[in-house]
Amino acid sequence: MSIQKTAIVTGAARGIGAGVAQRLAADGFAVAVVDLDEAACKPVVEAIEAAGGRALAVGIDVADEQAVQAGVARIAAELGAPTVLVNNAGIIRDNLLFKMSADDWDAVMNVHLRGAFLMTRAVQAHMTKAGWGRIVNLSSTSALGNRGQVNYSAAKAGVQGFTKTLALELGRFGVTANAIAPGFIATEMTEETARRIGVPFEDFKAGAAKQIPVGRTGTPDDIAHAVAFFASEGAGFVSGQVLYVAGGPKD
Ligand code: NAP
Repeated sequence: MSIQKTAIVTGAARGIGAGVAQRLAADGFAVAVVDLDEAACKPVVEAIEAAGGRALAVGIDVADEQAVQAGVARIAAELGAPTVLVNNAGIIRDNLLFKMSADDWDAVMNVHLRGAFLMTRAVQAHMTKAGWGRIVNLSSTSALGNRGQVNYSAAKAGVQGFTKTLALELGRFGVTANAIAPGFIATEMTEETARRIGVPFEDFKAGAAKQIPVGRTGTPDDIAHAVAFFASEGAGFVSGQVLYVAGGPKD
């Protein structure tokens, strides 16, 4: 079967999303590099094109229903019907429960859960029509509980339930859905956490590495490799799973 090889990666202007977009492009996918600010996606698109791949920068706020509809329609028209979706866009608004504002709760729920829901609902129409699709959602080890992240951990646990339900509903259409739960990955998100607690990033990373069985923190490429597996043709019998990519076991 010849499949339409178009992938969408949200939150792909930097960090894990940028690594995933470049990896999927290297694996032969035309990639929609989606982020809040279209201009911020351009360097990733240029890197993909310089390596011989095909990519399109698209500005979408994944929590905005109209923007999602319009953005996915544009991707289908300009790049091809999307058959791979990586719901990666994310934010943190950390605080202890007693200090957390309702706005910080809502902001995190909106990007991670409403965003993944809206993007998946828009893209599934193309996948089910093609009879083939791969959905990969970014969860986190924080889903297991993390001090100062009551909003984020709830959202990332929610992503796991969302993923399993997608697997149940969409399997019959040739569509798989899986989640990746990264541990500590060095990106601007973990830099932001270091800043908030007032620790230099290198010290923060070194401290984290001591707690990780493989003795180092993760990189966007570590996550991209796992995404590439779930997105591959051969992974069609793997669905509804949560893969912890954290340099050691988590449960
Ligand atoms: P990052 O460097 O902060 O990148 C996240 C990207 O998402 C940013 O480019 C951001 O754009 C974009 N984004 C935020 N809100 C958006 C929205 N509403 N619509 C579209 N794009 C939006 O984060 P990262 O570390 O690469 O994390 C990527 C994913 O992995 C997230 O889901 C995160 O929760 C998850 N994760 C990360 C780690 C880690 O250790 N880094 C661990 C576990 C899970 P702006 O810059 O414009 O805000």
